[in-house]
Amino acid sequence: MFKTEYVKRVYSEVEAKDPHQPEFLQAVREVLESLEVVAQQNPAIEKNAILERMVEPERLIQFRVSWMDDAGKVQVNRGFRVQFNSAIGPYKGGLRFHPTVTASVVKFLGFEQVLKNSLTGLPMGGAKGGSNFNPKGKSDAEVMRFCQSFMTELTKHIGQFTDVPAGDIGVGGREIGYMYGQYKRLQNEVAGVLTGKGLSYGGSLARTEATGYGLCYYVQEALKVLKSDSFEGKTVVISGSGNVAIFATEKATQLGAKVVALSDSGGYIYDKNGIDLDLVKAIKLERRGRISEYCTQRDAEYHEGKGIWGIPCDIALPCATQNELDGEDAKLLVKNGCIAVAEGANMPCTPEATEYFLEKDVVYAPGKATNAGGVAVSGLEMTQNSMRLAWTFEEVDTRLRDIMINIFQASAQAAEKYGMPGNLLAGANIAGFEKVAAAMLEQGVSY
Ligand code: NDP
Repeated sequence: MFKTEYVKRVYSEVEAKDPHQPEFLQAVREVLESLEVVAQQNPAIEKNAILERMVEPERLIQFRVSWMDDAGKVQVNRGFRVQFNSAIGPYKGGLRFHPTVTASVVKFLGFEQVLKNSLTGLPMGGAKGGSNFNPKGKSDAEVMRFCQSFMTELTKHIGQFTDVPAGDIGVGGREIGYMYGQYKRLQNEVAGVLTGKGLSYGGSLARTEATGYGLCYYVQEALKVLKSDSFEGKTVVISGSGNVAIFATEKATQLGAKVVALSDSGGYIYDKNGIDLDLVKAIKLERRGRISEYCTQRDAEYHEGKGIWGIPCDIALPCATQNELDGEDAKLLVKNGCIAVAEGANMPCTPEATEYFLEKDVVYAPGKATNAGGVAVSGLEMTQNSMRLAWTFEEVDTRLRDIMINIFQASAQAAEKYGMPGNLLAGANIAGFEKVAAAMLEQGVSY
């Protein structure tokens, strides 16, 4: 818990204002715990109310999204965009379409995004958005009508110099394409206003792979520096089977590891011989199917429900959703010899799990650092759009790797500087914060 009156007060004010936003409160608490020592050593932070401003979004937009389903029935969903902090650049962050999306969820994601974008070293502020719309089971035409309606409102709030959304859970190339088409139609302008676009209309090579690949580049560097080790010969368990999980599996395998498990919200598969990724891609990316279908074509086990963290592994990469790995899961992983846990998803480990990993000297790497590769390559997509050119896959991939190594180094150095060597969570929070705080101080009380 907090040690100083200042941070205690900041947190209790957030708690009083948003008592029904558990995900947001969880993210704020974790970050404030890391920043307490920074605030103690830098009185300008309290004097200029920097923490109070950091935890309050610059703008939160909530809107109605009406659309017609294939049966001719009018459906109503709720849309959000939270523009959290623009101190270091235009707002940037993904859109999530999932039934669990609420103001609390977009605020926690937007708050984390501010620090994540700062860590990339690129000039991007933080935002997030989405809807409680569930694309699962909808026809392409229904998804298109929803996306067009969603963008009809969102277009009033975004722009290439203002706010540049991207994908997240439930928002992939199909959804970005439909939203981009609608933006262009409404604004009559071709601009890099969304990232994650298709390659034929301004997308960047390696954007699809970026988050999963970036996660593995970060882990490879952390293992090298902290444990004189690597992915080579390691057994890896990865949760989820969406964009991040699939490309984390691909890169970990290329780096010499054996990935033995993947999951979705229905259950998990265990293939002791190593996951056949081509089959997973065919099921999940081409057919939008369920991970259980894997076992109809391979000699592998399928188990319904949670439980994936009970599989013995050296490295665990949670890549599905928030709070999917709790204290009990953490104990199981450590008991089974896991040496590193790195988050592909945003906030997948509960506070109890995180605490346990840090206590047991497991290499624990937080999502805001390890999954920053996605937004980093989105930033590179914006650069290419502005320059009206396209870099090769290798060029983007090399920049991505350099950015991920820099993020690790900046986090490790910040942790060291404030007396917490090896604590990559505190290090990421501090390194991300310092740049944003400096920009806010220099710009005066503008927001
Ligand atoms: P996808 O929609 O491609 O895949 C999400 C995966 O997680 C699916 O396998 C899904 O299973 C599973 N999942 C989602 N919600 C739940 C839930 N409530 N319980 C159990 N499983 C669930 O999303 P992404 O791969 O893009 O995103 C995964 C995570 O990575 C998210 O936390 C996202 O914020 C984070 N992230 C993504 C980035 C990107 O570039 N895409 C960038 C940075 C972070 P099912 O199909 O059954 O729902």
